[in-house]
Amino acid sequence: MGKSSKDKRDAYYRLAKEEGWRARSAYKLLQIDEEFNLFEGVTRVVDLCAAPGSWSQVLSRVLIKGETFGRAGWSQKQAATKQHVLGLDKDEREETTASAVQAPKPRDNVRIVAIDLQPMSPLEGVTTMRADITHPSTIPLMLKALDPDTYDASSPTSSSPVDLVISDGAPDVTGLHDLDIYVQSQLLWAALNLALCVLKPGGKFVAKIFRGKDVDLLFAQLKIVFKRVRVAKPRSSRASSIEAFVVCEGFCPPVGFKASLDKPLGAGTQLSTDTPMDTAPKEQKTVQRTVRADGAVELDFGTEDEEDDPEEGGQRWIAPFLACGDLSSYDSDATYKLPKDRISLDPVQPPTAPPYKRALEMRKLAGGAYGKTKGRTIKDKA
Ligand code: SAM
Repeated sequence: MGKSSKDKRDAYYRLAKEEGWRARSAYKLLQIDEEFNLFEGVTRVVDLCAAPGSWSQVLSRVLIKGETFGRAGWSQKQAATKQHVLGLDKDEREETTASAVQAPKPRDNVRIVAIDLQPMSPLEGVTTMRADITHPSTIPLMLKALDPDTYDASSPTSSSPVDLVISDGAPDVTGLHDLDIYVQSQLLWAALNLALCVLKPGGKFVAKIFRGKDVDLLFAQLKIVFKRVRVAKPRSSRASSIEAFVVCEGFCPPVGFKASLDKPLGAGTQLSTDTPMDTAPKEQKTVQRTVRADGAVELDFGTEDEEDDPEEGGQRWIAPFLACGDLSSYDSDATYKLPKDRISLDPVQPPTAPPYKRALEMRKLAGGAYGKTKGRTIKDKA
């Protein structure tokens, strides 16, 4: 499939190149922000599984350059697109565009740390780290990157915790659904444990999930440490994909809880019966542990004030699901007709060292996909 056919099939792929984003994923974060006002009051962020860096670009543009997207105002270009779709006349269009474009308001003391297995090209104001988020050694590295001047290796805790942790982590998909969902859930778990190490009370956590059959259990587990857990499906994420994002707000760690990748949330005694889960008495949560006749342990994550909250729906808790992104934004499953004279742009930032690079080199050496050189295998040539 060529660049231009992908341009036609994927409006966000095309738009990302036109608007200078390293990946189409940028729109997922922007659309989540549009719905949840994610960046409000945020200055310190950790971006996990960040390469090639479009989410970090969004962070850099919003926090450091002070540009406004989301609820606070869409970019001029997109405001114009929206108005076109809404059928406004020229005067109305100019008026709305002008109100959508606000003067940049850079924020003070911004700190953005981006981590990925893959190397990432530099970005203004973003500290990039090459590390595995599932490895315990990544925690001290992350803490040091967050507070390079005050970090104390003998007491590796975050002196100034972060407002937001985001994770777009995804394994190389195999097509075996159960396996993909499992590996993805391991990444999510690792991201959550890193988040628990650095989030400040009240902080937010956004992470990619694959909606498998046991996803409700995950939501209930997240609900132990966050006041509000919702699932978002941005319009830029294909409807056909099982991908969605958990948006967790109001971080409320269990009293005395210390996170680590060695001893993650849920292991050992960290979820013991009646452990108070919140410092605020009104929202104090308990985990009821019942040992069934067959020896299995059932955990009930009910909260005391659930009945009072219609959104939460009593003891059986189902995470609210929100489709986000303005209806006038592109539909990621639609094919758009492009003008004949349109030139297909190159990606803004090709992957620096993608995992498939070696395979491509080997295929090239072998003379193409079907190994044009008779009698010689790919291995012989490489
Ligand atoms: N949010 C990114 C952006 O906007 O450019 C795109 C992220 S991409 C969908 C998924 C990333 O997860 C890949 O770059 C991959 O290297 C990274 N990843 C997968 N497993 C990882 C791990 N164990 N530790 C760190 N990064 C990982």
